[in-house]
Amino acid sequence: MRSTEGSTSGLPPFPNAIERVWKRVLGLVSNPLARIEQDCLLCASPAQREIVCEACEADLPRLSEACCPRCALPSPEGRLCGRCLAKPSYFDAARAVFRYEFPLDKLVQSFKYGHRLALAGYFGRAMAALGPPGGEAATPSVDLVVPLPLYPGRLSDRGFNQSLELAKVIASAWKVPIDSERCARIRDTPAQADLPWKERKGNIRNAFLCSGEFAGKRVLIIDDVMTTGASVGECARALKRAGAAWVGVLVLARALPKRLQAAP
Ligand SMILES: [Zn+2]
Ligand SMILES: [Zn+2]
Repeated sequence: MRSTEGSTSGLPPFPNAIERVWKRVLGLVSNPLARIEQDCLLCASPAQREIVCEACEADLPRLSEACCPRCALPSPEGRLCGRCLAKPSYFDAARAVFRYEFPLDKLVQSFKYGHRLALAGYFGRAMAALGPPGGEAATPSVDLVVPLPLYPGRLSDRGFNQSLELAKVIASAWKVPIDSERCARIRDTPAQADLPWKERKGNIRNAFLCSGEFAGKRVLIIDDVMTTGASVGECARALKRAGAAWVGVLVLARALPKRLQAAP
């Protein structure tokens, strides 16, 4: 027979797990800005305020060394790299918070394909804290942020655009407008990740169309991972055609080409 000891209502006492969840819900109702405590996604240590605990966060591969201001790849003393000098990208500047390496790559995949939308807040806050390329988080000198658009078919497959989720957090932190309507992906293309690096630029050509009032604006494209830069480059080209005066790129993570992967 089930014991009802400790209960004054005659109901069985709350099992601990239910009580814990209920307390969290009550806490959120009384303070909607509070974040739900959760186990660390990487090491499963219990009851963290953030989705990744402090110890695991310290181990994430931050891109902290000097980088080329244009392509965000490591470069001695942060000078413009040889590749950008020889063939400048369509965007004017780029910046990344992390290297796209273990275990950050696993977190990004969990965000995109495992629908862990709580990671949007965690990642977006890290991007907002870094600030736009060439600027400060406290005074972001951009007129609007534009999430890199997904093709509508892919959007309905995945259910959300990860870049839009990041851009919402950043725009809100900086109090800068977000424009996710007037820049569209008009051509479906094989996923860039499925192609060799050399083929990515041709694959993405003319895939974006930006219309409306971008004339004279400083526009910041937001994306999760930059690999060759072909997608954000093509989007930047479309924004420039629509009159943008400056186009920067802020990404969560930069994939390093093999020649740079062994760098300390
Ligand atoms: Zn942890
Ligand atoms: Zn460069």
